[in-house]
Amino acid sequence: MTADVDGWRIVLTGGAGFLGSHLADRLVAGGASVICFDNFLTGARSNIAHLDAHERFHLVHQDVTTYLDVGGEIDAVLHFASPASPIDYLKLPIQTLKVGSLGTHNALGLARAKGARFMLASTSEVYGDPQVHPQPETYWGHVNPIGPRGVYDEAKRFAEALAFAYHRTHDIEIRIARIFNTYGPRMRMDDGRAVPTFIRQARAGEPLSVHGDGTQTRSLCFVDDMVDGFLRLLTSEHAGPINLGGDEEVTVGELAEVIRDICGSSSSVVFADRPQDDPQVRRPDTTLARELLGWQPQVDWRDGLERAVRWYRQQPG
Ligand code: NAD
Repeated sequence: MTADVDGWRIVLTGGAGFLGSHLADRLVAGGASVICFDNFLTGARSNIAHLDAHERFHLVHQDVTTYLDVGGEIDAVLHFASPASPIDYLKLPIQTLKVGSLGTHNALGLARAKGARFMLASTSEVYGDPQVHPQPETYWGHVNPIGPRGVYDEAKRFAEALAFAYHRTHDIEIRIARIFNTYGPRMRMDDGRAVPTFIRQARAGEPLSVHGDGTQTRSLCFVDDMVDGFLRLLTSEHAGPINLGGDEEVTVGELAEVIRDICGSSSSVVFADRPQDDPQVRRPDTTLARELLGWQPQVDWRDGLERAVRWYRQQPG
């Protein structure tokens, strides 16, 4: 599969975020023109500063919950804007619901007006605290709609439903990626997710704070692999939803120890309360991605963590 986007003109919402900025890099490198919409709610100017001068990259500072328009033809609209880490969406519950609903509506409207393909960055959180393990795309999930995390989970579930409604009603082409935990360079040190938090704590010589007893599991995917999955899905003929994620499961306790070792730190591990509705297990069934997209992660999670730690070491301060 070639995943060729050469010559495409693409609107990317959330392009100044962690995943969006890596995706922008790959699209531009692949010959596409990228119009990035971001209001820097949780993203950073520095993530895309290196693209500023590129003739095929254009930044629009805009909240995508307001009317979205661009001149000229567009081949694809990729909707990645949304707070994504629990710390962010618990602090920004209404913005999270708005960007998942109104933002998705605007992005779909733009795709419809342009006859463009629409792609949604959905999430493994649509499965909630799953009662089926690993999670196949056919599993409908186990979500508490009124719990604090419901603002994110339900926003994404609504976004998927809206994308399918546009597909069925207006015949627009859609692609839905259900993204599992991804990590790598440009994750914010303070975004509260396990990988950057453990790296920051280990490097500062502080105790590593593991939620619960650390036996809950996560499956990690290095960002380069994830972006490869996005491109394959975008250029495929499959609407999805398709799970994209690492299929090796690791306990949070083990993750803390491995990161401590990579950082060469002697920090202790302390156990803190589990957040409400925190999933106990998380692992994608990636059969569809393998069979339909020929995709599977290439980077071993320990190697990927070393690369992430190396990047953090290079950051000023
Ligand atoms: P991020 O917070 O780094 O990036 C999100 C970007 O969206 C930021 O640049 C932010 O400023 C922007 N944004 C938010 N609301 C906006 C609005 N109303 N208007 C314009 N821009 C807005 O998060 P990320 O980790 O890069 O996640 C990107 C997407 O992938 C999100 O949709 C997220 O739900 C999804 N996702 C990420 C992961 C992961 O492991 N990182 C897992 C599952 C799903």
